[in-house]
Amino acid sequence: MAALRDRSAWLQGGNALCLQPPPEAWRTWRLVLLGPPGVGKGTQAHLLSSALGACPLSTGDIFRAAHSYESPPGTAMGEARARIDRGELVPDDVVLGLIRDRRKCLRCRGGFMLDGFPRTMPQAISLDAMLAADRVELDAVLNYEIPVEQLEERVSGRLICRRCHAVYHARNHPPRQSGVCDRCGETLEQRKDDEPEAVRTRLHAYLATTEAVAAHYSRRGLVISIRATGNPSEILASTLVALSHRGFASQR
Ligand code: AMP
Repeated sequence: MAALRDRSAWLQGGNALCLQPPPEAWRTWRLVLLGPPGVGKGTQAHLLSSALGACPLSTGDIFRAAHSYESPPGTAMGEARARIDRGELVPDDVVLGLIRDRRKCLRCRGGFMLDGFPRTMPQAISLDAMLAADRVELDAVLNYEIPVEQLEERVSGRLICRRCHAVYHARNHPPRQSGVCDRCGETLEQRKDDEPEAVRTRLHAYLATTEAVAAHYSRRGLVISIRATGNPSEILASTLVALSHRGFASQR
């Protein structure tokens, strides 16, 4: 597995800078990844990052990183955490505040793979406005699709590294050593919001909001639908083929 790109600017926001700036690539990718919880967007964002060179930028990772830096109840992050644990969406103003604070990541010469943002129409409209103001264009919106029955199995086996947020799956993408992150050696854990009740709430939130976001980008001809069945390498291969069919060469 390739080394995880330094994402300090994204995870910490504000004036934080990445210690390891992205390398020059002959092509800069700017993608949005959509799909229901458990479909494997996070895994694909990391695999695509290795294949194409752009940073995987997950809003969920910002919340998880903030949690590990401590976010007491009563603070915006503490309140967000309570919603996340229940599987509910964080309010748009909180999410958009985080994105504005990290706007330089959207202008980064390394490009981006947005994972988990935008999730609602107000978020999509704000992202469009930020990108237009910076004269940045999206290449494509990858919409990962899977039969609902398979989601539960995907989510129930999912494990995440509490330090670097790498994502594994007990059966489909196991770590080399059980319970230990291949990248950084930290202990792996199950996400609290991967428990069945929270997963049902998240799926409901996805169906209620994100499908409109997919339709919004579909009207602009940006959506590429990808069947997310099979193992992560197979899904990555389908993604790269789909991008090349759209006239995008996928070599770095
Ligand atoms: P994820 O890792 O993308 O599944 O995100 C984990 C949780 O963080 C979600 O279930 C939401 O509670 C919250 N979250 C992440 N991104 C967003 C977003 N764009 N809008 C609202 N809530 C979000």
